[in-house]
Amino acid sequence: MADLVHLCDKSVMSDAKQQLARALETALAQYAETMGEAFPILPALDVANDPDLWAVAEIDGDEFRIRVSTGTADCTASLWASAFADGEFRKSFGIATGADASTMSHISLVWLMLHEMHHFQMRHFGAPTARQPSQASVLKKHGLVTRTKKSASAHSSDATEISLIFEMRADHDATEMLLDAYSSDEWLDLRTRVAAISAMMMLIERADSSNQRLGITHPKAATRIFQLLGHVIDMPVIAAHLELNQGTDSQPRPDNLPTQAEQESFAAQIVIPAFFDAVSLANITSAQTITDDLGSATDFFHDVEAVKLDHSAAPNELVTVGAQQWADLVALNTQISW
Ligand SMILES: [Zn+2]
Repeated sequence: MADLVHLCDKSVMSDAKQQLARALETALAQYAETMGEAFPILPALDVANDPDLWAVAEIDGDEFRIRVSTGTADCTASLWASAFADGEFRKSFGIATGADASTMSHISLVWLMLHEMHHFQMRHFGAPTARQPSQASVLKKHGLVTRTKKSASAHSSDATEISLIFEMRADHDATEMLLDAYSSDEWLDLRTRVAAISAMMMLIERADSSNQRLGITHPKAATRIFQLLGHVIDMPVIAAHLELNQGTDSQPRPDNLPTQAEQESFAAQIVIPAFFDAVSLANITSAQTITDDLGSATDFFHDVEAVKLDHSAAPNELVTVGAQQWADLVALNTQISW
């Protein structure tokens, strides 16, 4: 008689609770540091003892609450323990970055907290797929993995797409905040943060797809990683442009722009390895669909370049599944008001 083997080791509940509380604390500190002011409301953290991976951002009256399962901390720790137990990964990522499993696990959870905080920040609680009809007037929520059974009629494809766009927006802002501004002496730190984010995106896809009864509530991990690495590759240039805009004189200051050589070595030493980190993590989690959706490095970076040159690139001009979904969502995004 075979029991269901759960993918995540169960830790002592208080450990998971502590890890989640620490992650929220770091996320709030990161918010304050990058924004220059505290997050507008102190989120209440409500940890449920449940081995599955899920998190919900909800507003209840005046309170903003992040409800999250102990399994979220356990699954994250479990993924990173497997990654560092893998000789190849340890050699390519561990030695290059000097990071360990518990640090990586912490950063993944910090990003998750930032993602939930940005749902609040962007007032995503009216999202059609996130509404529970019976409670809509008093309790609004946005789930990492929606826990409520939805009826087929209430779950139109439009509502699903809006929900996916909200996810991409929350990802974008959480990522910008976690990665912070480009700095030429923090490349390796950046690589660890990007891997931590990729890992969380994969964990969410895995939880999403094991929950088929509820339908897909999130964009594909490959789509989210495409947006992530598209941002990372632009970071040296974004930093220079921001400085330019904030300058008092309107003259362009090309000396702010990292040299072509620096940009190329950043791509070679950080962005391309970050892609292979994602592929390794997908292999470690046995997520063949994610590996397939990401495509080969050549195809993936072909698509990154294609959308850089033409922001409104049509999905059929793109090769990889992740980039195609990204282009679909970007096209829809322009039709939806913020
Ligand atoms: Zn979300």
